[in-house]
Amino acid sequence: MAIRPIVIRGEPVLHTPATPVTAFDKDLRALIRDMFDTVDAAPGVGLAAPQIGVGQRVIVYDFDHDSDAPRRGVIVNPELFMSPLEVREPHDSEDEGCLSFPGERFGLVRAHRVILRAQDASGQPFTIEADGWFARILQHEVDHLHGVMYVDRLDAIQAHVAHKVTKKRGWGIPGNTWTPGIDRLED
Ligand code: ZN
Repeated sequence: MAIRPIVIRGEPVLHTPATPVTAFDKDLRALIRDMFDTVDAAPGVGLAAPQIGVGQRVIVYDFDHDSDAPRRGVIVNPELFMSPLEVREPHDSEDEGCLSFPGERFGLVRAHRVILRAQDASGQPFTIEADGWFARILQHEVDHLHGVMYVDRLDAIQAHVAHKVTKKRGWGIPGNTWTPGIDRLED
């Protein structure tokens, strides 16, 4: 078991579509264990493999939701089906964050409801129906597998702020990481 460094915006793996998992073997199980160790230490509610530098279609989550899915789970090779997106300003309660853009939150409108089809760590198919924040988390993590970060989806005003933060912190270029439990994020 190991906590892995989390890569930050600008690392190419975060901006490149991840590849499907084809081998449901012990290497995959080791990756999943490390992903849980890392997301637990962060702490976070979800983590996609590209965030620890692995360009594979794997997600872990740990979130207290009210769907039938387990509270803590593994999602491999997902397909996501979303309810229509409302065109409006985000509410204050819709501020999202990301371990690969640490210490910041921005508002984003997401689909209220999703259906996710995926495989588990053994390759068995399953489906999750989710709404509200769990649906938001699933959309956020599946975006990572497409090489998209939530800060890429912000409206123009918030995108400008995110751009300034990126510049100020020296992000937006390869090579920046932080390790949960070791690095303290500075303001
Ligand atoms: Zn994220």
